[in-house]
Amino acid sequence: RKFNFCAGPAALPEPVLRQAQQELLNWRGLGCSVMEVSHRSPEFTEVAEGAEQDLRDLLDIPANYKVLFLQGGATGQFSAVPWNLFGAAGSREQRVADYIHTGQWAEKAIKEARRYGQVNIVASSADRNFSYAPGPDSWQQSDNAAYFHYTPNETIGGVEFDYVPEVSCPLVADMSSNILSRPIPVEKYGMIYAGAQKNIGPSGIAVGIVRDDLLDRALPDIPRSLRWKVAADAGSMDNTPPTFAWYLSGLVFQWLKAQGGVEAMAELAEKKSSLLYGFIDGSDFYSSPVEKSSRSRMNVPFVLADDKLDKAFLQQAEEAGLLNLKGHRSVGGMRASLYNAVPLEAVEALVAFMADFEKRCG
Ligand code: PLP
Repeated sequence: RKFNFCAGPAALPEPVLRQAQQELLNWRGLGCSVMEVSHRSPEFTEVAEGAEQDLRDLLDIPANYKVLFLQGGATGQFSAVPWNLFGAAGSREQRVADYIHTGQWAEKAIKEARRYGQVNIVASSADRNFSYAPGPDSWQQSDNAAYFHYTPNETIGGVEFDYVPEVSCPLVADMSSNILSRPIPVEKYGMIYAGAQKNIGPSGIAVGIVRDDLLDRALPDIPRSLRWKVAADAGSMDNTPPTFAWYLSGLVFQWLKAQGGVEAMAELAEKKSSLLYGFIDGSDFYSSPVEKSSRSRMNVPFVLADDKLDKAFLQQAEEAGLLNLKGHRSVGGMRASLYNAVPLEAVEALVAFMADFEKRCG
């Protein structure tokens, strides 16, 4: 296997894939795969409940929060958040939500919320091309917001918040690209959601963590499939869930626990990202477009001094076994995603390759 820096769907831990491979044809001696049993069977119920418990242990989720395994990805939650939280706010004109605009993912969430109510942009980093996370000094919060939404890690721009916003309404976070990469104070949030395909498991499933007093604030016309309360009451099985993705996510949670949990992941993320940023900062050939205080530990965008070399860089990186370093199509350049399953050796190999490329082509 090669070192995979894909932003998502991203690398999975090799031991997890090996276990899944081993169990694929004959899971638990049942004579069929986990994909071929009922989601209501005792065997799958054990998988589902085990995954929830492991996630609760990993993130230290308080008992008054529901853990949901959802479909429709994080994008589904861009819609689900306003649908589920605007219900207590009154008419469309009275519905207000605060959003921080930090880049492309925040913007998608904002656009979706605008379809159901008023969005107040509390702060935006558009003035410097979304290269930083705005600090709380500049915020313009509304006094009647139904909730406050932000994107703790912008996967495309490589911008990560190093603090949790202090707000007086329910705090909602799209943690798709940095969940499980460090301990989080769940009790400060009203709702956390994340698409699985970066730090959790394969695509096709998303995780939601919702404080239970927020389950009764949905707009009356909310589609059933988006309603958190329906998912909570049905153990995330109101309809057939993506069982294989759920099972694999559960294996990832077990792997994370065996690695030492989110504390160990935070330490590793710090090591990996500081190795790469340190190298980039020490070079005149590579540079990072992100302000130092807001640099993501998960997604590291960087550019070469001469973009005519981009193609050769990517081709040679691939030949060296370093996959998926191309930056997002909207920003160009390079991006190395360093999620939990990317080992330190991958970053060491990347830095060695970058140094060598610079020597030969810089
Ligand atoms: N939010 C963030 C921060 C993301 O990085 C992504 C995907 O890359 C999404 C949302 C969209 O996730 P999904 O494809 O699961 O809808």
